[in-house]
Amino acid sequence: MLKIENLTAEIDGKTILNGLNLEVAAGEIHAIMGPNGAGKSTLSYVLGGRPGYEVTGGSVTFRGQDLLGLEPHERAAAGLFLGFQYPVEIPGVSNVQFLREALNSQRKARGEEALSGGEFLKLAKEKAALLKLDMDMLKRHVNVGFSGGEKKRAEMVQMGILDPAFAVLDETDSGLDIDALRVVGDGINAIMRDAHKGVLLITHYQRLLEVVKPDKVSILSKGRIVKTGGAELAIRLENEGYDAVMAEPA
Ligand code: ADP
Ligand code: MG
Ligand code: MG
Repeated sequence: MLKIENLTAEIDGKTILNGLNLEVAAGEIHAIMGPNGAGKSTLSYVLGGRPGYEVTGGSVTFRGQDLLGLEPHERAAAGLFLGFQYPVEIPGVSNVQFLREALNSQRKARGEEALSGGEFLKLAKEKAALLKLDMDMLKRHVNVGFSGGEKKRAEMVQMGILDPAFAVLDETDSGLDIDALRVVGDGINAIMRDAHKGVLLITHYQRLLEVVKPDKVSILSKGRIVKTGGAELAIRLENEGYDAVMAEPA
């Protein structure tokens, strides 16, 4: 579903991704772990097409298409969703307005009918209930005054509404307490655990992976994937640390 080959990328002339290879098949939840500064967030920004992140080599194929040749909004319409480590605030725009606009512009790009206000609200209520987020939160301006946990749950409501084929989730567990972690993890499972979907789940901690069980775990270090294994690799990283596990022969 997603195939990254020998990807190199730089920011301000500094090489951050340095020959990264990774494949995610349909039906797969693939966790990415790695030390701070390894390039995990950079990978998610490059996949999303964020300005300032310059791809200098390699390729990314998404559902048979050259992803890097698409504009960010075209990537979203093609079924790619990005969850951010630091969700942005949008004063003056309510979540409901923002989400309806995002959904309908993607539907339009795919040649589908826009949802009416009533149809959209029904969908939004269903997804808000799934994430145990009060509908009143969705009437407020995007992320303004939201706690860390509320931002992450609102972002997962957005993912539920957009129903992407593939999600790249960057530290969705950061700042969540135990109960919120369970709600968000269950939400990821409900929305994305599907034979036709895929997930790149970037996380520092094993605890999210106890709820969202990964099929594969890869370690990203210094801009490339240095080791891939099953769910047990994440447990070993938690117990033994990155240095010990990465020191082994691949
Ligand atoms: P991770 O998410 O794995 O912690 P990042 O992708 O955020 O790592 O960062 C990888 C490296 O890129 C770090 O050394 C970081 O300092 C550098 N970096 C990230 N963003 C920028 C930027 N806007 N300008 C310069 N360097 C950056
Ligand atoms: Mg980090
Ligand atoms: Mg990061």
